[in-house]
Amino acid sequence: MTKHIIIGGGPVATNAIETIRQFEDGQSQITLVCDEPAHSRMALPYWLSGQIPREQTHTADDASFQKQGVEARIGTRATSIDPAAGSVTLADGDVLNYDKLLIATGSSPLKLDIPGTDLPGVQTLWSLADTEALLASAGTSANPRVVMIGAGFIGLIMLNAMHKRGWQLTVVERESHVLPRMLDTDSAAIVGSWLGSKGVAVHSGTTVTAITAAADGSKSVELADGTKLAADVVIVAAGIKTNVELVDDTGIDTDRGILVDDRMQTNLPNIYAGGDVAQGPSLFGGQEIHSIQPTAVDHGRIAGANMAGHDVQYPGSLSMNVLDVCGIQNASFGNWADTSAEAMTICSPEGHVYRKLMWSGDEITGAIFVGRANDVGMLTDVGMLKGIMQTRTSLGQWKDFLAENPFDIRRPYIATGVAKKLAATTLLGRPAQPRSYRYEGTPAQATVGTSHGVYVDAKNNS
Ligand SMILES: Cc1cc2nc3c(=O)[nH]c(=O)nc-3n(C[C@H](O)[C@H](O)[C@H](O)COP(=O)(O)OP(=O)(O)OC[C@H]3O[C@@H](n4cnc5c(N)ncnc54)[C@H](O)[C@@H]3O)c2cc1C
Repeated sequence: MTKHIIIGGGPVATNAIETIRQFEDGQSQITLVCDEPAHSRMALPYWLSGQIPREQTHTADDASFQKQGVEARIGTRATSIDPAAGSVTLADGDVLNYDKLLIATGSSPLKLDIPGTDLPGVQTLWSLADTEALLASAGTSANPRVVMIGAGFIGLIMLNAMHKRGWQLTVVERESHVLPRMLDTDSAAIVGSWLGSKGVAVHSGTTVTAITAAADGSKSVELADGTKLAADVVIVAAGIKTNVELVDDTGIDTDRGILVDDRMQTNLPNIYAGGDVAQGPSLFGGQEIHSIQPTAVDHGRIAGANMAGHDVQYPGSLSMNVLDVCGIQNASFGNWADTSAEAMTICSPEGHVYRKLMWSGDEITGAIFVGRANDVGMLTDVGMLKGIMQTRTSLGQWKDFLAENPFDIRRPYIATGVAKKLAATTLLGRPAQPRSYRYEGTPAQATVGTSHGVYVDAKNNS
């Protein structure tokens, strides 16, 4: 019987487990090793804002693991891997043998090397424990003053959750503008002024030099430009690093992450990696780390299918970050930062609208969209743009049409048959299966509507 070991309990791990169980011909053992309960980090903001209870961030429980035949070693860390012996050593001293190993250890927030980061009330905001700690420390004040260091994608997702709670928010960004790895200068200026209008103070182009605390626990965040910001809580959201330490001295190749091919396989046989820790194929070429949920889900499913003995290739992931912060929606896709690409841009700071399409010939290879979150056109356009890019559709004459009618994405989307192509696209060569775990056991919707039926049929017949 094949022995699978999966290290990690995020979306890569849960999707790999489900896929192994759906694809395997014979029987296999699956052992999951994770230091946290299996959960979705992208659900944490909903808990932080008070929209869902903590338990709803979980993606599996004892019963679901049992149903899937998974031995779940939750609360345990893997401390080393021995590829020659085919074994993983755990923090409690146990040594587990594997035939196939999946490393899905994710990434971690970077620590800042400045005085004061070890003070109580100064923390990162990445995990279940971080969210719990923030809710506990902020809970002592009705309307806490929060200073966030770093205005990146994850930081602003969590900032949005705190804004919903009505907390007093300030963000410090060392780059010249907010969301530096997602937006260009002009689009970020729109977002920065929007945040200001919603009561979020933004200090960009400066760094934090020290954090000090008074006897009552209140803190002062000191900036390089001399500003001092008063805070009850300080959040460090200054970037992430891949959790690759586990493969040090194993012979597994790494660059910025664990290098994997289009089957999620590392350079060593029977060892796979996926998600935030993996540097894998990108849709537009090369190997990249995208650190987003859709890539983690794809990686888990591709790794699972291959671990179950099928040969399934991954076309590569599309880099996409979509974020609603305080009512403004921001989306960036693909090679949005490619300054050499031909670009079509609309910029209306007064209307809080920005759109940039980047071209390679008649194909869109990068894009930035900013607009009001309650603008339905913005939301549907973001979805259609993603479809056009995901299917790598050549737009031909519709490129000129978009130059004249930049807000009318719908016509090229329909005319070039993108919806039909998407309907026929499957990652694993068949329609997705229902999830095996649902919060509070809510049954999956039993009746399938007509449109859904047509969609699934298209995949069945592809
Ligand atoms: C607050 C927040 C909000 C986010 N929102 C979005 C969003 O809106 N959209 C989006 O696309 N992406 C979002 N992301 C990113 C997304 O959550 C990640 O890309 C995704 O979780 C990566 O999945 P993973 O399985 O690779 O790793 P993870 O989900 O990080 O899971 C890895 C697990 O492995 C555990 N682990 C690590 N090392 C070991 C070890 N040695 N032994 C045992 N266990 C170990 C970790 O503790 C962790 O529990 C968000 C992330 C955060 C933090």
